[in-house]
Amino acid sequence: MTTTPDPAAIRALIPSFSCKTDCHDCCGIVPFSDVEKQDAMKVWPLEQWERFGGKNWVARRALETGDCPFLRQGKCSIYETRPTVCRLFGATDHPLMKCPHGCGPKRKISEIKSRAILKSMEAEARHE
Ligand code: SF4
Ligand code: SF4
Repeated sequence: MTTTPDPAAIRALIPSFSCKTDCHDCCGIVPFSDVEKQDAMKVWPLEQWERFGGKNWVARRALETGDCPFLRQGKCSIYETRPTVCRLFGATDHPLMKCPHGCGPKRKISEIKSRAILKSMEAEARHE
């Protein structure tokens, strides 16, 4: 069986907010689900990947350098389809995902809900 939630619908559950100008302090080694990796490969098809935490992926260059390879000239080059974890940073009350600059939506989503959102994106391309 294939579970096929709609990535756009999942992303819409995460409230948006304005960041500090030109900030990318929360960028680094981030996990990509299958579908998020597929989206990133549409932009950077030569990227190499490693398995990360069981179901997810991480760009090999991120592991090698500690920096996200999709950060180009200070901007996220895959912004429209950036991974869920990047969208959740600052938007959830998870204690490890608090923006160091105090940025975030008026109403943050709960840690429990943010975990469920991450799980649902992981399930997207999984075959059972
Ligand atoms: S969430 Fe905070 S740390 Fe991350 S880019 Fe926005 S302002 Fe910077
Ligand atoms: S995918 Fe984009 S937002 Fe996420 S860590 Fe990389 S550059 Fe930053």
